Order: sequence, then structure tokens, then C-alpha cells
Amino acid sequence: MNRGAIAQISLHAIAHNLRTLKKIVQDLPIIAVVKADAYGHGAVEVSKKITSEGTSFLAVAFVSEAVQLRNAGIQSPILVLFDRENLDEYFDFHLIPVISDIKTAESFSQMARKRSAEVPVHIKIDTGMGRLGLRGKNVIHDLITISELGGIRVDGLLSHFSEADLADRSYANRQLKKFIHIKKVLIEKTKRPVFTHIANSSAILTFRESYLDGVRPGIALYGYSPLKEKKKKLQKIPGTGQGTNNKNIELIPAMSIKTRILALRSVPAGTPISYGRTFITGKKSKIGIIPLGYADGYSRLFSNKAEVLVGGKRVPVVGRVCMDLMMVDVTAVSNCRENDEVIIMGQQGKEMITAYELAKKAHTIPYEIVTTLGIRSQRVYV
Ligand SMILES: *Cc1c(COP(=O)(O)O)cnc(C)c1O
Repeated sequence: MNRGAIAQISLHAIAHNLRTLKKIVQDLPIIAVVKADAYGHGAVEVSKKITSEGTSFLAVAFVSEAVQLRNAGIQSPILVLFDRENLDEYFDFHLIPVISDIKTAESFSQMARKRSAEVPVHIKIDTGMGRLGLRGKNVIHDLITISELGGIRVDGLLSHFSEADLADRSYANRQLKKFIHIKKVLIEKTKRPVFTHIANSSAILTFRESYLDGVRPGIALYGYSPLKEKKKKLQKIPGTGQGTNNKNIELIPAMSIKTRILALRSVPAGTPISYGRTFITGKKSKIGIIPLGYADGYSRLFSNKAEVLVGGKRVPVVGRVCMDLMMVDVTAVSNCRENDEVIIMGQQGKEMITAYELAKKAHTIPYEIVTTLGIRSQRVYV
């Protein structure tokens, strides 16, 4: 359904970001995370682009996402991070399950033997995220049990950092140590190599020691660093300057969100705008009605707070954001007309609105901004 908002996705930017990350990790294997429809950028198009640029694996959350990629002709190895159902499809579509418990491993083993097949799996270890993965004193024992099940081949071992921005490295260091220890013991016991990965975007940008055998970037592929807002703070914290190497890293945001002015109205001073009359014009004003609202993923928290770009200028969102509409004050834009382009996120002239800016205003992170806006807009690729 076309609700009016357009998400313009630059595949060139994504390719550039992938190349930048490859350079940083010196061509270690990349597991490109394309879950949540590639963070709102469109999993099929993004995956086609990045596999053509050379990426070792793709990673999605659910089997249905992987099947969508297979049906689009994508042949790269695909890691399915979280799905414990749809076992048949793992075999039918040659998907790699990430297994987090013995019970699921046994189900895969049974299915594999029934089909006289062998399924390559990656095992997840919970080193401190408190989410999925083998954990506690029995980790090694459980790992060995899984690796001895018939029909299963343990190719990989992964874990996930709890610290999103790694401003304080101490907890992440403990997680990494634990993980490396588990890897070592497993290899000693099984005498088989295992492909080990833990680094997400922020670790790639600041934590060289965590690269191991491959890295799993998500948000950085789409042009955002989880650290950017913390940069100054990061430098101020004493004793955390361990090999931070994120200078000169240029990531390009790949998504812009745009729409057009639906209607333009001139109103006198004292005119209340939108639900609850939270904004009242202070002078004679020109108000633009924009066909975009919280149903499009534009948070109601942006009411009277965010700005958009019209005619190369920043103009304020006035009054409450509605379900399908919102209002902006375009009094300062000369020659403003109905149907003029409105940039919700992205660049126009010299001005730019980033997902960082919007995230800050909605008390969230760029991840949520790009996924919500991207998934609900009509996408065009450039
Ligand atoms: C989402 C996700 C990633 C990517 O994280 P970013 O912070 O976006 O780089 C990596 N690994 C797992 C397990 C994830 O769920």
C-alpha cells in the first residue's frame, strides 16, 4: 500500500559502507545482518547488492525472511538467528540455524537423520547478554553433547555483546574472554576448527580484539554508527582508550524519507493547530499539511519537536502528529507551494536531518527510526 511517504534507498551508500567495513576488518568474512527487512531498507534489494559486492554470509531473524531471499534467487549462505520452528525449511532452502539450546539441537538432529542429511549449525553462547544461548556451568558439556549428535555439524560459534555502544569496555571484555575460553576448550575436545564471531557494528568500529574469525555488522551497513553520539564522552572516560580506531571512518546513511505538501493554508495569529491545541500560531502563518503520521512510523513524540526540510530550510513540526497527517510551519519558506517536496529524513540543499537527530528527539536509537520509517514507506532504489 502506498501511503504517500517514499523511502529512497541508496544501494551505492550501502556498498560503500560494506567496503569501508571490509577495509576496517582487513577482509575478514562479513556476516551481513539483513533482519527486519534489512533494517527497513528492503532485504531482497540490499542482499542482492551486498552479495554482488562480496559478503560471506547473510543473517536474518526468521526462516520466512530467509525463504524470501532464496525465492529472490540469492544463493549465499544464510544464518537464521532466532527461529526454532519451520525445521523442514532449513533443509529445503539450505539455511544455517543458530542453535541456542540442546532441545532444538536434538530436533535438528532427528530431522537430519530422517532426511539422511547433515545440517551445518552455529551455536550461540550467552556470555552476558541475557537473551538466547547456552549459558551457565554446563556450557562446555552442552556444546560437546550437541557436537556429538548425528546429522549436525557444528561449523560456528557465536555470541552477542550486551553493550550497544561500547563506551565502557569492561563488561564487553569479560564477555569476549569467556567466549574465547569456550572456543578454545571446544576445539581441544573436538579437534575441529570452528568459525567464531561476536562483533556487531560498534565492536567493528572500536574493538579490534573482538573480530575473531568474522564480524556481523547491521546498522553500520546502513550508514549509522552506534557510537557517534557518544564520541566526546568516549574520549573523556579514562582508561578506555584501548585501540579505538574509529577516526576517518565515513559511513553514508542510505535512507532518505520524503513526501509532499498535501495542502497549504494561511492562518491568522492565535490559530490552534491539531489535536489538543498544543500549538497556537503566534503570528499570521503558513501551515503545510503533510500526509505522514504515526501510522507511517513517524513517532507522536515528534509533536512540536522535530523539524523537516522544505525549500532547503528547516521548518518545525507544529501541533500533535496525527495518525496519517501532521502540520509544519512553513511561514519562513518563500514561494512554498502545495505539492512541494518535504524531506522527513535526508538531505535537501545544505540541510540534513539524520536518524541520529530524530532518534534523540524520540528518546530512541537510529535503529528504531530507520526500521519503522523504512518498513512502512514505499521504497525506491537509487
Ligand atoms: C542485530 C544483530 C547484529 C547486528 O547488530 P548491529 O548493532 O546492528 O551491528 C549482530 N548480531 C546479532 C545476533 C544481532 O541480533
